Formats: sequence, structure tokens, C-alpha cells
Amino acid sequence: MSADRINLLRTKVFDKSKWMQLPRDVVIGHDVIEQIPAVCEDLALGDSVLIVSGGQTRDIAGKKVEALLSGSYDVATFAANVGDPLEAIRRAEAAAAEAGFVIGVGGGRVIDTAKIASYNTDRHFISVPTAASHDGIASSRASVPTPEGNVSLAAEPPVAVVADTAIIASAPHRLLASGCADIIANYTAILDWELSHRLRGEPLSEYALTLSRMTAEILFKNADLIKPHSEKSAWIVTKALVSSGVAMSIAGSSRPGSGGEHKFSHALEQLAPGKGLHGEKCGIGAIITMYLHGGDWKAIRGSLRKIGAPTTPAEIGVDDETAVAALLAAKTIRPERFTILDMGLTSESARDLVKMLYRE
Ligand SMILES: [Zn+2]
Repeated sequence: MSADRINLLRTKVFDKSKWMQLPRDVVIGHDVIEQIPAVCEDLALGDSVLIVSGGQTRDIAGKKVEALLSGSYDVATFAANVGDPLEAIRRAEAAAAEAGFVIGVGGGRVIDTAKIASYNTDRHFISVPTAASHDGIASSRASVPTPEGNVSLAAEPPVAVVADTAIIASAPHRLLASGCADIIANYTAILDWELSHRLRGEPLSEYALTLSRMTAEILFKNADLIKPHSEKSAWIVTKALVSSGVAMSIAGSSRPGSGGEHKFSHALEQLAPGKGLHGEKCGIGAIITMYLHGGDWKAIRGSLRKIGAPTTPAEIGVDDETAVAALLAAKTIRPERFTILDMGLTSESARDLVKMLYRE
């Protein structure tokens, strides 16, 4: 090799590296809950399991999973719906430490508790969502409510997702519509990411960005098919939520699915705790951030309406003044995550936007 070539190699060392954690088994469809023993066997995760569930969700699906596994595994159970969320996570960790692996069977809080406890105890985690209400069912982050507002915590991405469309279709439609809104918010999340890339040099993952956009596009195109209590709808939305989770795993952060609309949602959670579901608030926020990006905000609003998700703060019991305050406070939430809401929105403009974009 010539001296020039050796010098070139020395100066252009490629030093990038990345660790992506993706689910190994994704099983979606009618009655697939029956396949949980096969999934556990396939993954060979150990002979003892902690099944984390809720109150209602334990009756709907948790007990079934317990019965399916009790013949072959040492089964312990944990109720994630009792007491303070952070305290529940601590107790779940103590229980997870005694088990070989963890299965979360339930809605948002159950899945979040199970995957944070799994992460902190270095256990594999299987996600069994009973509703398709947000993209946390397949992601490596979890949002936990605390008295000081929601905190985003590191969590174990699922080694498997088992999503039974019969169970998901029987959940209240509001949950499914909220999941759709969380996916539609990918559109504005991506615009914020690109903005931050151009303005601040934030690294961008083309793969994650494209997958996130494609997921939103597929859902957007199929908005007419999203109907209450239909297994086909549950199928479409669950696949989209898993796909969004994978986009986040590729990016190594929630960036592909979380921008200004999510900061608005978290600000609302602080200013009006308990009003509206996570995805609902993100959808409402996406209308404004899409407008600020100069995009087709009416199309966002139209698809949210089609799937039955709220499009105004009033619909989730939040008054205009609080929505304005949340828009202005959004920049104080995760300030390192730069979005269109960090670009100097004035209180006067925020007031005008709320009045103009949130008319019935
Ligand atoms: Zn979200």
C-alpha cells in the first residue's frame, strides 16, 4: 500500500457506532394471546416469569396469560395500578428481580411499569397490549406522571410484542383513536426534527425519519377504515404503533415520533392534569405545530375527526387560556429537544392561533 493511501486511511477513520434494540418476535392478530407459550418457548428466556397487569386488564387478559403459562413456568403476578406510579415501579423492580423475565399485559401504565422495571433489573420484557392507545407498546422510553409533571425514563424495549386484535378491538374506541392521533403526530415530529437538523445540526436518521413518516402516511390513507370495535382497525393501528416504536429504536430516541406537539401535550399534563389522553393531546397540538410549519393543518384536523379523536382543547375539557399557556410553556419542557414551539411564539400569536385553529 502506498504511503498516501495509508495516510488517507489514518485521517478518515470511521468511528461511528450504534446499538439498535428491536423486537425479535412480533405476533399480531386474532386470538394470538394463545401463542404466548410458543413465543416464550421460542425466546427461551427462563423458567420463571413476572406478569404485570392492571385491575380490569388482568380480568380481560392478564389471568388468561397466567393460566397459559402456569403449567410450564413459575408464575408471579404484580398489580401496576395500585398506588403512586413511581412507588409501583420500585415494587415492580423488586418483583422482577426474582423472575427470569417480565410480561406486561395491559394499557399504558402497565406496559410502562413493566418495561421500566425490566430495564432497571436487566430482564427481558414481552409487551402484551390490551389497547392500542400510544406508541409506547414497542418503544424504549416510558413517560411516568409525577407531582412535578411527566418524566421520560429509559425502559426495556420489548423482545416480543403479542397484540391480540380481538382484545384490542374490545377496548373503548377512545383509546384506539388516541393511538391514531399519536401516530398522526409523527408528521409534525418529523418536521421538528428536520428543523432542528437544519438550524442546530442535530443528527438525523434518514431510516428512522422515513419509517416514521411512512407509518403516519399509511394510517392517514386508511383513516376511513378506522371504526369502533373493528378488529381490522385494531390490526392497522397496532401495526402502525409497532412500526413507530421501531423507528424510535432505529433513531435511539423518541425523536421520530415526538416533537413540539408532544411538548405541548406534556405542558398540558402539568397545567391541566388528567385532562385528555396522551395521544389526544398530541393530536390537538399537531394541528397548531403543522400550521406553524406552514403545512396542511386542515388535513391533520380532518383525519383526526375521521377517526373520532378530539381536535379542540374544549373537547377534552381544557379552556382556551390553558391551551395558550401550554403552547407558551412547551419550550420549558425538555428544552434540549428543539421544535417549532421554541422559535419565539408570542403570547399574542398563541392566543390568535388557539382562537383560529380550534374553532369547531
Ligand atoms: Zn406519543
